Amino acid sequence: MAFEGLAERLQGTLNKIRGKGKVSEADVKEMMREVRLALLEADVNFKVVKQFISSVKERAVGQEVLESLTPGQQVIKVVNEELTSLMGGEQSKIAVASKPPTVVMMVGLQGAGKTTTTGKLANHLRKKHNRKPLMVAADIYRPAAIKQLETLGKQLDMPVFSMGDQVSPVEIAKNAMEKAKEEHHDYVLIDTAGRLHVDEELMGELEEIKALTSPDEILLVVDAMTGQDAVNVAESFNERLGITGVVLTKLDGDTRGGAALSIRSVTDTPIKFAGMGEKVDALEPFHPDRMASRILGMGDVLTLIEKAQTNVDEKKARELEKKMLSNDITFDDFLEQLNQVKSMGPLDEILSMMPGAGKMKGLKNIQVDDKQLGHIEAIVQSMTKAEKEDPSILNASRRRRIAKGSGTSIQEVNRLIKQFGEMKKMMKQMAGMQKGKGKKKGGF
Ligand code: GDP
Repeated sequence: MAFEGLAERLQGTLNKIRGKGKVSEADVKEMMREVRLALLEADVNFKVVKQFISSVKERAVGQEVLESLTPGQQVIKVVNEELTSLMGGEQSKIAVASKPPTVVMMVGLQGAGKTTTTGKLANHLRKKHNRKPLMVAADIYRPAAIKQLETLGKQLDMPVFSMGDQVSPVEIAKNAMEKAKEEHHDYVLIDTAGRLHVDEELMGELEEIKALTSPDEILLVVDAMTGQDAVNVAESFNERLGITGVVLTKLDGDTRGGAALSIRSVTDTPIKFAGMGEKVDALEPFHPDRMASRILGMGDVLTLIEKAQTNVDEKKARELEKKMLSNDITFDDFLEQLNQVKSMGPLDEILSMMPGAGKMKGLKNIQVDDKQLGHIEAIVQSMTKAEKEDPSILNASRRRRIAKGSGTSIQEVNRLIKQFGEMKKMMKQMAGMQKGKGKKKGGF
């Protein structure tokens, strides 16, 4: 999972201060020393770290904390707000030209994920904004880039403009613009060529395409796994082309966080989207506040809800919510829930959006693939009604019978019962948070 190391260290540090009724300057100093190390280890640019630490420190020893009734929590709120502002504060949306088509140039180094992101963005614009984009294959240098975009186009059933690899990218862009106007496309997404390194020829060519198409948006696609290097790349592209936004790809991998936390500050351009996987729907608008909350283990309930809205049956979800709050969940619900959650994406990613889930170590090991889901299903179906409703009666002989009946092992049965217990525990915690919501000020 992205930012795992950073998240763990920051949460560990902040937990020490969370419950404090009094926060001294020495406490803040000690905490900030640890935060600084955590950020540097996550490969965040050192200038960015320095600036961040100084703004948090200034606020953390200031009046808003000292005069608060819950200074420990107030410090965490400050860290959360400063992290949010480091990543850009408000969400920054994709441009819309006053006169269509809106032209978007996709630029970046080879392998960053430009072609994939062009497909994802076309899909996003159609699905979420009801637009009619034209993708343009102008990367004539990387073998197979054109074919890759055409395949994506077929898969999405969306048009791709290409002229093969014997025509210059500038010529391709020119023809594509005409075609887009003729066919009334409202977005033109130009997949330009990348190189392994920033070079003069590439930049010259991109400048020519820019001059010809007057793009409304120049999106730099960067691989978040490359950490601070991504920031250097962004600086060079920005100097020559003046980028208007960044797409951070591969945030589903175990990136440390350096790129995400430094790029906005160093280049002064917003992160507009995050790539969360290889599939065409794995692109999310980037919300700095939600990302900060995820890093600090406060969850990202809004994204979770949005995912649920597109994937989960609402009526069933409401019933389940009621059961969750009253803690009457049964093994059948557990199974149902696993099936629904599975349709929302990888489980560890979903879990990382739940507040407090980072602390529940047992949950980390739940992996749901189809095979395992089949086993879980078989185990639950081998239980009697009474067992499903009250796992406390599951003694050794019952567990043996269930393992035999489901064709699994005692270990698997034990593991499932344990995970079910963890889930119940977490629900109890979440239900408690719901009830206590009105009392706590400050947002945690
Ligand atoms: P380009 O050279 O910049 O056009 O790069 P591609 O679009 O061909 O992407 C390079 C590789 O990165 C491909 O294997 C993609 O599937 C993969 N990729 C792109 N975006 C993401 C992402 O958000 N997550 C993951 N896991 N892989 C990605």
